[in-house]
Amino acid sequence: MIDLHVHTSASDGTFTPRDMVALAAREELRAVAVTDHDTTAGNHAALAAAVEFGIEVIPGVEISADSPYGTLHIVGLFIRPDDGPMEIALSELRTFRDERNRKMIRLLETMGIIVTMEELLKEAGGDLVGRPHFASLLVKKGVVKTFQEAFDVYLKSGGKAFLDKKRLPSDQAIAMIKAAGGLPILAHPFLMRNKDVAGFEANLTTLVEQGLRGLEVFYTDHSRVEEAYFSDVARRCNLLVSGGSDFHGAIKPDVKLGRGFGNLNISDEILENLKEALW
Ligand code: AMP
Ligand code: ZN
Ligand code: FE
Ligand code: FE
Repeated sequence: MIDLHVHTSASDGTFTPRDMVALAAREELRAVAVTDHDTTAGNHAALAAAVEFGIEVIPGVEISADSPYGTLHIVGLFIRPDDGPMEIALSELRTFRDERNRKMIRLLETMGIIVTMEELLKEAGGDLVGRPHFASLLVKKGVVKTFQEAFDVYLKSGGKAFLDKKRLPSDQAIAMIKAAGGLPILAHPFLMRNKDVAGFEANLTTLVEQGLRGLEVFYTDHSRVEEAYFSDVARRCNLLVSGGSDFHGAIKPDVKLGRGFGNLNISDEILENLKEALW
């Protein structure tokens, strides 16, 4: 069993890269991919831990991108973690994210809610602060009762303190991952498909033309019917099949590493096929 979509404390996961790899080994996974939002900072520690715990770590990243049909997430697998051009682009995204976060702090302040960047960084346990860290902090401060309430009232798109972040156009995100030696994979495709069934396949064609190589057929939120549908789409579009849980640790406690909601059992063969496509 493998898991090719995992977050660590380098972004908004709660396990450090090493602890995540240790957990993966305990859960008897053969391989995990580290796919943090906008950063490759967790990859080195995870790769070191791979040796220590005797499993395989695939270096990766997850990038939010804009397409004509809306926002989508592209996972890059087998990237070179220190690829120069990619690091420059990711650091720009992080700078915009940081400015967005500071503006959100000021917005909350106008509502009489005081959170500081120091508190957020502590919550993040790393350099990258995201909305989930705002949410945990708002719960700790008693501003809201639950993590979800924090999103529903303040942080979701349209929420009282919501500000959007900068995203790359999908063609740039795809090209950047390829130039860094990676395979660009469309993550959690059900999100796009459920929003616009008609648009989904048209958009996928565009993404394939832009260089998309794979589709996350196996995903925590996918039903068996969706798995079958996306597996058929992948075959028709000549896309590689990938799969992962989108594990985040304690901020999404129902999602288990490698297992998702208990529905996942992603075979090693998926990884072998992806590797073959790299050569
Ligand atoms: P950010 O990258 O800072 O904009 O935060 C995005 C993250 O927030 C996503 O990866 C999700 O984990 C989480 N998120 C976004 N929207 C919601 C929502 N409506 N409810 C709960 N979590 C959400
Ligand atoms: Zn996340
Ligand atoms: Fe995502
Ligand atoms: Fe993710």
